[in-house]
Amino acid sequence: MQSTRSSVLVVGSIAFDNLEMPHGTYENVLGGAATYSAISASFLAPTSIVGVVGNDFADSHLQSLRTRGVDTMGIERASGKTFVWRGRYSDDLMSRVTLQTELNVFANFSPKLPDAYKKAPFLLLGNIHPALQSIVLDQVTGPKLIAADTMNFWISGEPRALDAMLKRIDLLIINDEEARELSGIHNIPKAAADIHKRGPKRVIVKRGEHGALLFDSHGVFFTPAYPLEDVRDPTGAGDTFAGGLMGYLARNGEVTPQSLRKAMFFGAALASFCVEDVGTKRLLGLTQVDLAKRLRQFVDLVDHGGPLDI
Ligand code: AMP
Repeated sequence: MQSTRSSVLVVGSIAFDNLEMPHGTYENVLGGAATYSAISASFLAPTSIVGVVGNDFADSHLQSLRTRGVDTMGIERASGKTFVWRGRYSDDLMSRVTLQTELNVFANFSPKLPDAYKKAPFLLLGNIHPALQSIVLDQVTGPKLIAADTMNFWISGEPRALDAMLKRIDLLIINDEEARELSGIHNIPKAAADIHKRGPKRVIVKRGEHGALLFDSHGVFFTPAYPLEDVRDPTGAGDTFAGGLMGYLARNGEVTPQSLRKAMFFGAALASFCVEDVGTKRLLGLTQVDLAKRLRQFVDLVDHGGPLDI
């Protein structure tokens, strides 16, 4: 039976990113985990975003989210500066260091969900202080799926708040280095097993250009990243993956082992566009036709023509 389409609520950082890339430095680029995730989810399901911006945040940025169909009613404007993140990438774009994290208006932020958002069936707690992620969980009523992301900044800085949050979620979406840091285990399957014990019954480990692994009660599942000739900016690819995955699940209306596996391809397809240009530029210019074409390329990428009998 086909379920009804539902919506995604994304909570997380909305930022100005300063990106030091081998091909140039880009200042005040619209970014933030929630921004990437919400834009991505909006290709597949009605999407709302909750976060905070400062009085330096141009209305045109809110307008570009709305043009993508993202409901921005839950974005609070506080007096002060918007969250700023600065990162420097290696020449091959394979690694990066965080040079600056200025919380600014996030330092005094306490998310308040508009009533209309409290029943959101698909909740994505984007990268943000884990105590704030828990404050959101206190306000929602019975989501079908709660997914969360986090990063090294919070794993090392706020381990207790993170532990409390992990106990309350269904799915953790995290990158490989963070999975290792969180569990203290280098081997990824063992790290995922350790994270299961901390709460989430499903864990997705993102491995950048090496794809993503899902660990759930049905075993392990792999989705590759689309092999691109030109990668310009990997910032936000993980958040875009998470948004696309949640968008597909909401569109499908229910979470089954199979819908989750398919959702990983939607996440991977959207993430493959994110890296093609700096910041959110490529995603904001993307069409449903582009997405459908990339999904077909994904099918070709992994189609091996049937069972692998011996
Ligand atoms: P990703 O490349 O998927 O790890 O996401 C990068 C995005 O996360 C950037 O747009 C940053 O603004 C945002 N970000 C970086 N550090 C933090 C942090 N400590 N808390 C919340 N968001 C962050």
